[in-house]
Amino acid sequence: MLQTSTITDIRTRISAIRPAGTDVSILSLPCPEIAAAARPGNFVNIKINAADQPLLRRPFCIHNVEGDTIDVMVKNVGRGTSLLCEASCGESLLVLGPLGNSFSTGTGDFDTALCVSGGIGTAPMRFLETTLASEGIAFHHLVGGRSHADLLTSGLSNVSTATDDGSEGFRGNVVELLETHLAEQNAAGRVKVFACGPNPMLKALARFCRDRAIACELSLESIMGCGVGICYGCMVELSNADGQKESILLCREGPVIDGERFTA
Ligand SMILES: Cc1cc2nc3c(=O)[nH]c(=O)nc-3n(C[C@H](O)[C@H](O)[C@H](O)COP(=O)(O)OP(=O)(O)OC[C@H]3O[C@@H](n4cnc5c(N)ncnc54)[C@H](O)[C@@H]3O)c2cc1C
Repeated sequence: MLQTSTITDIRTRISAIRPAGTDVSILSLPCPEIAAAARPGNFVNIKINAADQPLLRRPFCIHNVEGDTIDVMVKNVGRGTSLLCEASCGESLLVLGPLGNSFSTGTGDFDTALCVSGGIGTAPMRFLETTLASEGIAFHHLVGGRSHADLLTSGLSNVSTATDDGSEGFRGNVVELLETHLAEQNAAGRVKVFACGPNPMLKALARFCRDRAIACELSLESIMGCGVGICYGCMVELSNADGQKESILLCREGPVIDGERFTA
């Protein structure tokens, strides 16, 4: 996992907004310094409202980078995200980033990336895909959701889907889809899993990969405040190399972690 070097706080204006699914919007934010330094897996911390609530910034993965502009994919779950989803082009925001570490792609120790995501966890996968493609690494997306309406596949290629209710793609969860995919492709060789989604999904995925000795990196979520290691609001408990529990600040040492640390 690579750590970010240059962090900038940029006042910008929303340049485009488009719907991406039920209660989900993609916002384009011109942020040249952040776009230039960003790596897949990094996030930004956005001050949505200059004077009023919510007072704290809200964290969002970098969904895509095109030239000087970054995109974020936002699911409306509360006060801050509803303001973002209902915002208009031209509205002003403060964007701090790129923050956190990133997925490690150019390591040469795998041939195929399996990008596994669930729900809004699909947000970082577009940027991951363009990075893998530019590095000449094969990739396949496995995207899960409760039903057809919850699948977020906008901008992705090479996608297989799973829904709990069977309304689209494989009937079952995305870890079961991964198992089927590996069996069908006979692809248990040099594959690496990159994943983002709800923590219970990531825990099941981490165990699945550990049991089959598949390398795996997970982007975790937690409630987060400052995004830069000052407020200690995003502490999560992981295992260290000796199997002992240890706490990390997800904003500083994550959000991407080695799956081995999330199996206990
Ligand atoms: C590193 C990181 C990257 C993220 N990337 C994205 C992304 O790309 N797109 C996206 O839509 N969301 C993302 N999230 C989650 C997003 O930050 C929260 O949904 C958001 O902060 C909620 O703000 P709110 O004001 O709308 O909700 P609030 O009104 O504060 O809370 C509404 C509900 O959301 C829950 N909630 C609040 N914060 C989080 C959180 N961090 N994770 C899960 N539930 C939360 C609360 O417990 C509450 O139930 C990310 C979170 C982290 C930590």
